Amino acid sequence: MTNVQGMIETCVQCGECVEVCPFYKATGNPSYGAMAKVGAARSLFAGEGLTEEGLKTLWLCTRCDRCVSTCPVGISVPDIVQSARAELRRRGQWPQKCSNIANAIIEHGSPMAAPPQDRITYLGKDHNVREKAEYLYVPGCWASVRLPEVARASFQLLTKAGLDITTLGEKERCCGLFLIDNGLMDEARELAEKNTLLLESTSAKTVITECPGCYDVYKRVYPALFREPNYEVIYIADILKDIVEHGNIEVKHSGRKVIYKDPCPLARRYDMTKAAREVLGHVAEVVEFEEHGAEAVCCGAPAGVKPLYPEVANELAGKLLKEASSKGVDQVGVGCPFCMHHMSGVQNGTEGPLRIRTPSQLMLESLASER
Ligand code: SF4
Ligand code: SF4
Repeated sequence: MTNVQGMIETCVQCGECVEVCPFYKATGNPSYGAMAKVGAARSLFAGEGLTEEGLKTLWLCTRCDRCVSTCPVGISVPDIVQSARAELRRRGQWPQKCSNIANAIIEHGSPMAAPPQDRITYLGKDHNVREKAEYLYVPGCWASVRLPEVARASFQLLTKAGLDITTLGEKERCCGLFLIDNGLMDEARELAEKNTLLLESTSAKTVITECPGCYDVYKRVYPALFREPNYEVIYIADILKDIVEHGNIEVKHSGRKVIYKDPCPLARRYDMTKAAREVLGHVAEVVEFEEHGAEAVCCGAPAGVKPLYPEVANELAGKLLKEASSKGVDQVGVGCPFCMHHMSGVQNGTEGPLRIRTPSQLMLESLASER
């Protein structure tokens, strides 16, 4: 908190962080840009009442980190937002929808409160989840529950490549990213301990995550909240890249074009922008958004924005899809199942002809088209 208050006091209101914020881009309103969030947090921690706009701007943040590199004095607006949201909760000013999601994660193990058996449909009927293996595949909530075709594609590729691999099956639970984004750190700490021990119980040396959010939580947040784990964490595209390059699986170029949407945590916190493009490059011609890599525009959905302000989140996804169409592509490659869920939902409300797919799905399709 001291650190957060120090950051708030350090802000010189230069405005460098305003226009890069996706919520300025979506609305054209500087009241929803990053600097306004610092102002709202300043009022909140000073004990002043927040205006409706002030409250809204604190919730219109996906903690995408786009503003962080623009600040000349090193302020992290997403850290300020995280703290402000925790303070709002202490004051009983949390939106009911956010409380519902947090409770679903804590009590039922996923933001959608899915029954455990919904997590394993991607494995098919005959698959027995083994207790131990060298590799552990963790699809995360969105890929396992809402987009089993995504998890199925990755698991089939990893199996076909001959990896000694297992999953957590029905035992898997949410990594708790939503709790972290909204400042519920005690609850997140409990999950960090439970999940680290659960993942270690498989004896896996390598944990492969489908979701960039899970990747960041397992790799960076859990060690800070609990301890370093006994396994290495890698992102699905990194291992797929190795699999293709070592010839474990042969793929065929489709001759089609694909535009790639970088996941925010990977591009900005880890500079991980190459592997997914390399995988996609084996099966299609890769085209870029105007702002890509570390400058990629957030899809607008995470951290509670989609449930609270769907029209704003949808506006951002719509802009990305429109830009994709203008580039003459018919496929959008996404590195994040939650981006995919969100962007596909927006596209379903239009006549858009774009296919939205993960690198795993496009890679699997390239095998199928070989036969
Ligand atoms: S983290 Fe992203 S959404 Fe939040 S203020 Fe910064 S740029 Fe805006
Ligand atoms: S860039 Fe940094 S100093 Fe400038 S307004 Fe944003 S948070 Fe404040």
